[in-house]
Amino acid sequence: MNITARQKVRNHVFYELTRSLCPECRQVVDAQVLIRDRAVYLRKYCPEHGWHEALVSSDVDWYLNSLKFNKPGSIPQDFTMKVKEGCPHDCGLCPEHQQHTCIGVIEITSRCNLICPTCFADAGQGYDLSLPQVEAILNRLMVTEHEPEMVQISGGEPTIHPQILDILKAAKSRNIRHIMLNTNGIRLAQDPDFVHQLAYYEPTIYLQFDGLTAHAYDVLRGRDLLAIKQKALDHLAEAGMHAILVATIVQGINDSEISDILRYGLRHPAVLGISYQPVTFCGRSQGKPDPLHRITLPDVLHNLEAQTGGMFRISDFFPVPCPHPTCSACTYAFKDGDQVIPITRFVNVEDYLDFITNRTVIDFSEEIKSALESLWSMATIMGGEKTTNVLSCATCNLSLPSLDYQSLKERFFMVQVHGFMDEYSFDLKRLMKCCVHQLLPDGRAIPLCAYNNLGYRQKMKEEA
Ligand code: SF4
Ligand code: SF4
Ligand code: SF4
Repeated sequence: MNITARQKVRNHVFYELTRSLCPECRQVVDAQVLIRDRAVYLRKYCPEHGWHEALVSSDVDWYLNSLKFNKPGSIPQDFTMKVKEGCPHDCGLCPEHQQHTCIGVIEITSRCNLICPTCFADAGQGYDLSLPQVEAILNRLMVTEHEPEMVQISGGEPTIHPQILDILKAAKSRNIRHIMLNTNGIRLAQDPDFVHQLAYYEPTIYLQFDGLTAHAYDVLRGRDLLAIKQKALDHLAEAGMHAILVATIVQGINDSEISDILRYGLRHPAVLGISYQPVTFCGRSQGKPDPLHRITLPDVLHNLEAQTGGMFRISDFFPVPCPHPTCSACTYAFKDGDQVIPITRFVNVEDYLDFITNRTVIDFSEEIKSALESLWSMATIMGGEKTTNVLSCATCNLSLPSLDYQSLKERFFMVQVHGFMDEYSFDLKRLMKCCVHQLLPDGRAIPLCAYNNLGYRQKMKEEA
C-alpha cells in the first residue's frame, strides 16, 4: 500500500516485545525493542514514571546476526526455587530458567581495599562469608551441577578475606573443573609469597586492568594503579600463573586504550586473554548516566578493529551461544612471534555455531563442532589442558609450529567482550538464559544481572 501525503511514518522499526525495568522504581515493565538509525533501543513505559528509552546495541547488524547463535540450554540436576510469582521474581534457579550454571560466582566478601568510583558490587565495608557458608554453597553447587564447570571467587576484594586460602582449598577439593579468582591485584603486587601460595590451587586470575594511563585508573578506581597492576602480573609470571585482564570500558575515558590493553596483554607472559566489559550503571557509578549514548558490545569490537589496524576484525568475533547470544562475544588467536592469527580466519565458526538455521557445513566434522562449542562457552578455561587441546584441534588445518603443551598454551590468546545489563539495558529474555550465577549461602543461584539490578545484593548486605 502506498503512503499517502497525510500519513506520517514512524522513525523506527518495531522489532519485538520483551520485559525490562523502570530505571526509576525498578518495577518490571513491558519493553519494546526498536530499531532506529541502525541501532537497537529498548522503549518502556512505567505507569508511575512514564516512558524511558535506552540504547542496547549500536550495531543492528551485529545484534540481529547474533540471534542465530543461540544454543539450547542444559538443565541443572536440581532447582532451588519453584515457579510462583513469575520471572524475574523466582530466582533461582526456578525450573523456567533456560540454562544451567556455567560460572558459579561466590562473593566471599563485600569488603575491599579500594573504594572505586565505578564498582557494580558497590564494595567497600561490609561482611565476609564464613568458611562453613562457602562450603555450604559449594556443596549445593555439587548437587545442582554434579561436575561444575567453573567457580569464580569474587567480592569485594577476595584476597583480603582472612580465609582466602582455605576457601580455595575447599573449592579445589571438590570435583570442580576450574577456579577463577577476581582481584584488583593489590595484594598480588604487595605480597609475592601470597602469590606463590595461590599457585598451589591453580586459579586463573581475573585481574582488573583498565588501561595503560594514570587517567583511566584515576577516573575509574580513584587512584593511579598502573604500577600495581604491572607488578601483580610480574609476580604471577614468576609463580607460573596466568591471568585474564578485565577492562571496564567507559566512553571518553579509556575506549581509546582498547588496543593498548590488548597489545600489553599479548606481550606479557602471564596474560592469556582480555575480557572487555562496557561499563554498566549499577552499584556505584559516576555522574548521571546517559542511557541513549553509551558504549555497547559492538562498539568495543569496532574500536578493536580500528585501533589495531585490522589485527582483529569485527568479523573475527562470534557471539557466545550458551547465555543469550547478545550478552557476550569472543575470539581466539594464535601468537607466532610478532604475528597474531585469529583462528576464525581459518575455521568456519559461523556455520558450525549457527544453532537456529542449522546450515549444513561442507566437510562437516563432529570433532571440530564440539571443539568450537567448548571454545565459544562462558566456561572456557584459557591455559587449561582441555582448552589448549581443543584450540589445537580447531586449528589442525593451520600448519602451526609443533610445540610442547607448556609452550603451546601460552601461544593461544582469548579476546572476549561481556556486556552486563543495568536497569536501562535490562532484558528479561537475556536474563532467562543467563549462565553466570551468583551463589548464595541459602542455596539459591541468582543470575548475575538479576543479582545486580533487582535488589538481591542489597538484601544480602542487609542480612549478612
Ligand atoms: S531469571 Fe531464571 S531463575 Fe530467575 S525467575 Fe526468571 S527463569 Fe526463574
Ligand atoms: S571495583 Fe573491584 S576493586 Fe574496585 S571497589 Fe569494587 S570490588 Fe573493589
Ligand atoms: S551476567 Fe548478564 S550479561 Fe552475563 S550472561 Fe548473565 S544475563 Fe547475560
